[in-house]
Amino acid sequence: MPELPEVEVTRRGIAGPLKGARVLAAQLGKPLRWPLGVSTDVLHGQQLGEITRRGKYLWLPLTLPQPGEGGLLVHLGMSGSLALLAQAGPPGPHDHFDLCTNQGTLRLNDPRRFGAVVWSAGLQTAPAAGLLQHLGAEPFDPALTPQTFHAALQRRRAPIKAVLLAGDVMVGAGNIYACEALFQAGIHPALRADRISRPRAQRLLQALRATLARALELGGSTLRDFTDVHGMSGNFQSHAAVYGRAGQPCARCLQPIRRLVQAQRSTYYCAGCQRR
Ligand code: ZN
Repeated sequence: MPELPEVEVTRRGIAGPLKGARVLAAQLGKPLRWPLGVSTDVLHGQQLGEITRRGKYLWLPLTLPQPGEGGLLVHLGMSGSLALLAQAGPPGPHDHFDLCTNQGTLRLNDPRRFGAVVWSAGLQTAPAAGLLQHLGAEPFDPALTPQTFHAALQRRRAPIKAVLLAGDVMVGAGNIYACEALFQAGIHPALRADRISRPRAQRLLQALRATLARALELGGSTLRDFTDVHGMSGNFQSHAAVYGRAGQPCARCLQPIRRLVQAQRSTYYCAGCQRR
């Protein structure tokens, strides 16, 4: 599943080349998770602004030649990836959205079709506002401080791993990144979020930021082509300390790494290094 670092690497790959591009045509394939919400004709002639990201959503702002604006909110779902093609051939069986512009064709490939491209008049209006309203803080937002992070954890009684995965305190900690950050911070994944002290919350926030920064760096340096976002978490995983390493010795204390299932997701941790 594309996680926040993969989506951000994708954004960095397409934002520059597509800035100021004029839409020539848009083409839909099979239905995605949600309908586009507008006729593709509306997109013709519109100009792309600076592509931004919120959580795992990309926002492609569009400006009409006549007064009025809106944009496309894009989510990669479970299996989506975007490619920017200079010369786009006919769409393949898993290509479900093409945005043809004078600066290349942006193509969404999504075999499982949990992804979506949705028209919205703005980020503050429906449907974008509804989709984004429950998202937690951006991991690198300076407004997210150890104090605000700790205060948010104090309001949650669920296990810290589940709280991180829910993404309503902070977005971006997908399964692999949450496991690695909890290991780095020495926090047991089943510890209740409201039992985490302020110093430990600070260590956890630092660990989350370091983990995501490393993933971004790895994505930026190892992905020649940002369309290969699925290879990125695999690459990160080969550097993982605990994720996917059940039964192998912990690099710090040599105890075997354990696996437990929380909210239907595998959690990997070291009982020696991560305390309740
Ligand atoms: Zn250990």
